[in-house]
Amino acid sequence: MQERKMYINGAFTDAISGARLTTLNPSTGEPFGTAPAADAADADRAVQAAAAAFPAWSALPQAERNKYLLRIAERIRAHAEEMAEIEGLEHGTPYKDAYGVCMGAAAKFEWSAAAAFRLTGDQIPVPNPDTLTYVKREPVGVVGFIIPWNLPTIMTAVKLAPALAVGNTCVLKPPSINSQIGLKFAEVIAEAELPPGVVNVITGYGGVVGSALAAHPAVDMIGFTGSSETGKTILSLAAPTVKKCVMELGGNNPVLIFPDADIDAAIKILAWRQFNNSGQHCSGPGRYYVHESVYDAFRDSFVGYARSLKIGDPSKDKAVDMGPLVSAEHRDRVMGYIQSAVSEGAEIACGGKTIEPGFFIEPTVLTGCTHTMKAAREEIFGPVAVLIKYTDSDDLISLANDSAYGLCAHVWTRDIPKGMKLIDKLHVGAVFINCQMLTDEQPWGTSIRESGIGKEGGIYGMEEFTDKKLVCVNYA
Ligand code: NAD
Repeated sequence: MQERKMYINGAFTDAISGARLTTLNPSTGEPFGTAPAADAADADRAVQAAAAAFPAWSALPQAERNKYLLRIAERIRAHAEEMAEIEGLEHGTPYKDAYGVCMGAAAKFEWSAAAAFRLTGDQIPVPNPDTLTYVKREPVGVVGFIIPWNLPTIMTAVKLAPALAVGNTCVLKPPSINSQIGLKFAEVIAEAELPPGVVNVITGYGGVVGSALAAHPAVDMIGFTGSSETGKTILSLAAPTVKKCVMELGGNNPVLIFPDADIDAAIKILAWRQFNNSGQHCSGPGRYYVHESVYDAFRDSFVGYARSLKIGDPSKDKAVDMGPLVSAEHRDRVMGYIQSAVSEGAEIACGGKTIEPGFFIEPTVLTGCTHTMKAAREEIFGPVAVLIKYTDSDDLISLANDSAYGLCAHVWTRDIPKGMKLIDKLHVGAVFINCQMLTDEQPWGTSIRESGIGKEGGIYGMEEFTDKKLVCVNYA
């Protein structure tokens, strides 16, 4: 059993109450570790520490703050193997993916250190003589981060790195079921010897310590990634103190497969994305609209890909392609979608069953689905492809846009001008045509419908962690 402490004000500590929570290994269902179960009193300690650290941290020259960020990156690289193993044991991530995620996390700190130099202010022309007006950027203050369990290591880095780079101090709450991953990250950060209080990591249940953080009056901003339902709760908790909230929420991303699509290339990316991390990706495909002329070929190729995957316990075999889902609760939720689709007339082309021990679901392809089925309307967030056949008489754009979400869309066609014309018609925050990629430089997230508010990643995401102060000087 792994046992770790929280990280508050530069020291490792238990919850004031002494309470602890237990996390499980999703490949076996057995206990994996214990972590402090913090409550509002602990959240307050962490927020006070971050608030006390803010003036000195934000006043550091950029180059000085960058030294700390680069040291964090260097420490992550040094611990990548162990971090990846913990991610496999507590989240079920295959080793090769988990190791890549750790390298990606290190790169986020390196990129953020370099990118912070690019944030500058503007001089604003005004008609008044002898007056200088400009806008300068300032850090927002204490940022509370609440992150989800899908890829918690990269989620931690993508939030902490830009916020720290531009001078904020932070309190981060990892998902309770992946507390060890969050606390291991805290141990790695501690090795970089940032001033006490600049980064604090507190573990506990979302409804207890997460809500205390969201409501805390000394927290200036919330950065949240998670479900739209929890997002709405957090917005209501943050409202009384009018906090800035950047929210990366749910999605049910449409995929449009045109008759002229390169099916092999599409499967290589889409099926990989569908089953990688057991389909627990916000940016992954949610529902596939496949033209009738290529439907059978697309289905057969998808099923072939699904059957080729090696499934197993990532801690026992570093070569597995797909591990378990993160929890029994989430496995049951995903199975509920498979069952509801079947009861509404869908067929299982492959998969559809659980594997025990642990919380596995076979890579699943559902065929004969319709746009109105529950599995096509809601976010499944699992290794389940929902294939919907369309014909020339269907209004494809209306189908794609008919959703409570608007995170992203995937388009596959060899007719690039046709694909480009769809960009304006798709009511989503990102459009991927014949590819899918998310690099450090690209912004992610959207304010469309229930998929979120604001941007994360890239320069646009970094800007969210700054406030623009107007300065007006009469120098006559
Ligand atoms: P979740 O909403 O259940 O939990 C997210 C976090 O919120 C966890 O740390 C949890 O402990 C905390 N939390 C729960 N209740 C809370 C409360 N009342 N107050 C404060 N905090 C609370 O989400 P999840 O199941 O961990 O993650 C999956 C969801 O995240 C999916 O909907 C997925 O689409 C979304 N997601 C979105 C993006 C994006 O960029 N848009 C990225 C990854 C995941």
